[in-house]
Amino acid sequence: MNREEIVMVCAPDISGQVRGKSFPLADLERRSRRGIGWVPTNVQITTFNSIADSPFGSLGDLLMVPDPDTEVRVDFGDGSPSEHFFLGNILYTDGSPWECCLRGRLSQALDALRAETGLELNSAFEIEFQFLDDSPGYGPGFGLTGLRKKKYFGEVYLAALRQGGVEPDSFLREWADHQYEVTMHPQIGIKAADHALSIRELARATAARLDDPVTFTPIRDVNGAGNGVHIHMSLVDGARNPATYDAARPGGLSEVAGQFAAGILHHLPDITAIVAPSLISYARLTPHRWSAAFNNLGLRDREAALRICPVAELPGMDVAKQFNVEFRVGDSAANPHLQLAALVFAGLDGIRNRMEPPAPTEEDLSLLSTGELEKRGLVRLPETLSEALDRLGKSEAARSWFGDLFLDVYVKHKRGELEFLDGKTVEDACRLYEQVY
Ligand code: GLU
Ligand code: MG
Repeated sequence: MNREEIVMVCAPDISGQVRGKSFPLADLERRSRRGIGWVPTNVQITTFNSIADSPFGSLGDLLMVPDPDTEVRVDFGDGSPSEHFFLGNILYTDGSPWECCLRGRLSQALDALRAETGLELNSAFEIEFQFLDDSPGYGPGFGLTGLRKKKYFGEVYLAALRQGGVEPDSFLREWADHQYEVTMHPQIGIKAADHALSIRELARATAARLDDPVTFTPIRDVNGAGNGVHIHMSLVDGARNPATYDAARPGGLSEVAGQFAAGILHHLPDITAIVAPSLISYARLTPHRWSAAFNNLGLRDREAALRICPVAELPGMDVAKQFNVEFRVGDSAANPHLQLAALVFAGLDGIRNRMEPPAPTEEDLSLLSTGELEKRGLVRLPETLSEALDRLGKSEAARSWFGDLFLDVYVKHKRGELEFLDGKTVEDACRLYEQVY
């Protein structure tokens, strides 16, 4: 058959989906200049395809303009059409940035960090997912049997990632039923979030080619482990020298990195609705699941919201270059750009106000009373999406970072998602979420 290649320009959105429009590849040059039309109310299409309350109604026009640095073109070599997309920025028709463009919000946060501190964010995403295939043979957690079961998938997937511009760091059998994990090499600035998006989309693209569906849903079984998104972050100066490590300070965190961490932990209860934005995210964010339930800094604690990561101190290894903190609250219902934007804005606020990081915890915080937690500057994170949205909506800080228009759109969007799920049990919601993520 004769075929003509189609390419898509798309953008990460509030629902954690990637949406856009496709056109003939032959028109790429023209589309790169003038973009493609986009409708403001599309921002309120929820992950279940319902439309949440929109301030835009049927009005308005925007442009989605492909960013040439984001091209992903993967030929699977099996005769199937290539996976070919660009990420786009959403602009008003006069070229000014649209408040609800999430890549734009991350760029704004990173620009503010650079302008106020001279620092850049270096980050890497560690993403868990599960196969929906219930056949036996996954074997025990971290086992060779489990790798063997999905090794063909893993090898096709790694090739796709590399062709798509992502440097894979690992593909492994995780602990939970049907669960695997993929990690990437760190990237400076927005590229890290772009790559995190490709990690999910190329897993789905591989799954479609091999007829072996996967899900990145926050949790499949409320009695089991969740699928987390752990974000490893370090700060580098303008010359790309590491700025996160200081052997003389508590936990080895440099003064500026400590303030950055303190800002994230201070604002965390207010931004939980952004980093963990589904109804079932809150089944994952409970004690004893190796996710996070409090706004704590942990030293060797995999239940900490922010964990100071161990580094290899073997001969010839540079500790400062490896040193990073891991944010463990997020999940894949959130899109990586907005997650990172919220973390950067919160961390920058910590630097700006010279916040003191709380002492690292190494014990089970679920055994402490609210009073004992309070004395140490710790709180339980919101326990439902609704509670988290109330906090976000009332956060003066989040309003100053994101502006009233975006924040109100975000809260309405997520309330619309909750309305769609109204009357359903958490188990029913898990079944629905595993199909859309
Ligand atoms: N599955 C855990 C989570 O939901 C993380 C387990 C781990 O890799 O430490 O975040
Ligand atoms: Mg893991």
